[in-house]
Amino acid sequence: MAEAGSFAERVKQQADIVRVVGEYVRLKKTGKDFSGLCPFHQEKTPSFTVSPIKQIFYCFGCGKGGDVYNFVMDMEKCEFPEAVKVVAEKCGIAIPRLKERSPEERKENQQRSVLVEIHREAQTFFVKQLQGTTEGSLAGAYLEDRGLSKDAIERFGIGYAPSGGEALLRQLKPKYNDKLLVDSGLVSRDQSGGRLFDRFRRRITFPISNESGKIVAFGARALGDDMPKYLNSPETPIYSKSNVLYHMDRAKEGIRRDDYAILVEGYMDAIAVARAGISNVVASCGTSLAEPQVKLLGRFTKRVIVNYDPDAAGQSATERSLALLLEHDFEVRVLALPPVGNKKADPDLFIRERGKDEYLKLLKDAPPYVDYLIARARQMDLTTGEGKLRAVNFLLPYVQKIPNRILRSEWATRIAQQLRLDEPVLRAALSKAASERRSEVKTKPELVARAAKPVERRLIRMLAEAEGFRKQLAEQLQNARLYHGLETERIFAALVIASLSGQPVQAAEVGAALEERDRRLLYEILFEEANEPTWEEAMSCIEALQHRQAERELADVQRSIEANPAAPELRGLLEKKQQLMRRLAAAR
Ligand SMILES: [Zn+2]
Repeated sequence: MAEAGSFAERVKQQADIVRVVGEYVRLKKTGKDFSGLCPFHQEKTPSFTVSPIKQIFYCFGCGKGGDVYNFVMDMEKCEFPEAVKVVAEKCGIAIPRLKERSPEERKENQQRSVLVEIHREAQTFFVKQLQGTTEGSLAGAYLEDRGLSKDAIERFGIGYAPSGGEALLRQLKPKYNDKLLVDSGLVSRDQSGGRLFDRFRRRITFPISNESGKIVAFGARALGDDMPKYLNSPETPIYSKSNVLYHMDRAKEGIRRDDYAILVEGYMDAIAVARAGISNVVASCGTSLAEPQVKLLGRFTKRVIVNYDPDAAGQSATERSLALLLEHDFEVRVLALPPVGNKKADPDLFIRERGKDEYLKLLKDAPPYVDYLIARARQMDLTTGEGKLRAVNFLLPYVQKIPNRILRSEWATRIAQQLRLDEPVLRAALSKAASERRSEVKTKPELVARAAKPVERRLIRMLAEAEGFRKQLAEQLQNARLYHGLETERIFAALVIASLSGQPVQAAEVGAALEERDRRLLYEILFEEANEPTWEEAMSCIEALQHRQAERELADVQRSIEANPAAPELRGLLEKKQQLMRRLAAAR
């Protein structure tokens, strides 16, 4: 992965894996290594180990392992280049500016950074309008009425776009040309193609940031009865609404820490929830979720509580989002808030009226999506056969997405009871649906590491560590083909090749080239308690392998003799048998 001489390789050499991992996991020194509670699976006793000598980590519980980049990629849910950047930043290593490939690319990059700059200026402008103008103070009063304190207004960068129609334009025009202003989406051109004017007028503005915290768009709510009530930035070179989740930049820490996200519909909801002290909330800012948004979220967690508006639009948005989340293997719960008085409650209203503690409690008890769906199905007319069929057809696509067979079966029973359906009929429908999806289910590789014999484990460890005689050992193993046919053959092969190269052996790189099962076994062996390797021990291990090899050969010869006792090769086979038996006797 990290090519020799590359920036990634240099960073890796300078970075200390213990220090980087230590920013995420509390590590304790245990012997030569460090250990702590694994950040990738739930555990009470530490099985997560970091080796400062080999610069690798391994978890004996869940089997995750690798070098500092593998760790950061898993932790930050990012790709390799991003991981290199993260590690470099953590270690205070300056990142070289990336070279743009072509003049067009350079131009696009330049345009993008100017558009970001325009948004930054617009943000400053909107915030000033809210605080410093008569018109703006009216908007401020409205926000206060919605329960937003000055503090919150400031924290979420809420601003105001005045009604004039050219206020922002006048501000920006001296610095940027018309095309850039139109490209930014903040300024529109009228139908006849001439006059420019502000896109947002007489609206409260909410800055929308991308994942790294740069403002790339605005959402704007009408102050009066202007339609539409909510107006967002259009798609621009720096903003695509299906790629951005509102509040993601501030939520990602909390999402990773708590390993779940709360998904709400609008900015006001996200702000209300975040203000209640629940930082891991994001808003889809549209009626339903788009696939890129699901993928973005999936980089941080696979668990979501959907808390959309309780109206009809919110319900169907919930159901569409559910389908998408389930397709991407999310564990989904649904929070449907009870009405406040006789008003249907979105998260904003609910928290304002009933308080954050009540909200937190409901959040904690939010039911799995199937319960929510059953409740929805029960609202349908279940008195007729037709109605029941409709209810089943509504539920089936979701239920069949449950990957676990036992769980699916439990749900079938539950649905049958709740909807008063004939259980066998429902089960038949379910298993038919299940068999249709079975072809999509990928079988996971066997994750249990195989038990390798002690001799093989020792030799593997020596190949990885014994700087003094690794190369000679590799030659012996290679020349006598001693590891051929062993369960650990592929691990040996990788280590022998690395050792013969004469370069220092990088355990993480050898591991990266192996399949999951082999990699796990390699890491397990590397983290075992062990003494300093000696050449004498290496030789006695080699002898043991030779012995096993002779035994295997003897068994082969014996089989050949028995298979064709009259064959012309019989004499040769018998001689070979004698030889092998002498060798084995001598070794005893
Ligand atoms: Zn683990």
